[in-house]
Amino acid sequence: MEITLFNIRLVTNHENARNMSRTTPHTRQESASALVQALTELARTPRLLVALDFDGTLAPFVDEPLRARTLPEAKAALDRLQRVPETWVAYVSGRPLASLARVTEADDDALLIGSHGVEVRFGADGDDLELSEDERNRLARLGALLEHIVSNAPGAILERKPVGFGVHTRKLGAEHARAVHQAALEAAASVGGHLTVRDGKDILEFAVREANKGDGLQRLREHVHATATLFAGDDVTDEDGFAALRPGDVGIKVGEGDTKAQFRVADPQAIAGLLELLAEARERWAGENSVSSD
Ligand SMILES: [Mg+2]
Repeated sequence: MEITLFNIRLVTNHENARNMSRTTPHTRQESASALVQALTELARTPRLLVALDFDGTLAPFVDEPLRARTLPEAKAALDRLQRVPETWVAYVSGRPLASLARVTEADDDALLIGSHGVEVRFGADGDDLELSEDERNRLARLGALLEHIVSNAPGAILERKPVGFGVHTRKLGAEHARAVHQAALEAAASVGGHLTVRDGKDILEFAVREANKGDGLQRLREHVHATATLFAGDDVTDEDGFAALRPGDVGIKVGEGDTKAQFRVADPQAIAGLLELLAEARERWAGENSVSSD
């Protein structure tokens, strides 16, 4: 059953139990009113970090990755949140940082975590991504093999990332996509050394350097000295983020699939509604507490 509360479409607990049989037994997905309550409490924390995945969470999926944009309602709510003192908005994505900066239309002082935690840009401060000779060699060998596979699979796209590759199969049929994934995995195994492999939505990713969204979240939290965090994401890689949350934080899974998140909503539209709610509560908190921006 889908219900509407404050314009937020939520998949209820009951629905989860019936349709999401793969949800792990220890997972609690709370009711819509519990989620609203949790956000209201979160809005009263002294230093609030709002960290969000981009694709499938803020922005609906599109065929051309660089055309993806945050839903207008979500963008407006994030702009409001960003203006509230003691409040930070950050994007935590698997996209390379340059791509993430472009699709989020981020300011120079934005907080961005790209490549699943490998790339970090906190305003002017960036992470120097110098690869070792071994990493460079493995990257080159893997690139040549994947290039060959993708060039023989019309519709598949090879995305070059700072520390790896993404093989996109969104435009392929399910069977064809599986064959391409299999070939790419075999190619990766032949390269040797440690490779991080991520199986996402219509994308298989390989990285020669290890980091995850949980690491990214941790760095953000330390950077802004957050006292509580909201994190939302839709994909399996976001589970590292949910696992890094602490008591008082709020984790929201978007869509179906196993999750460690406390709450679940149906789609980016629902996230936009929740961000509006949070922005309102946060502005009220700032007003009541005379928190000034200087
Ligand atoms: Mg996503």
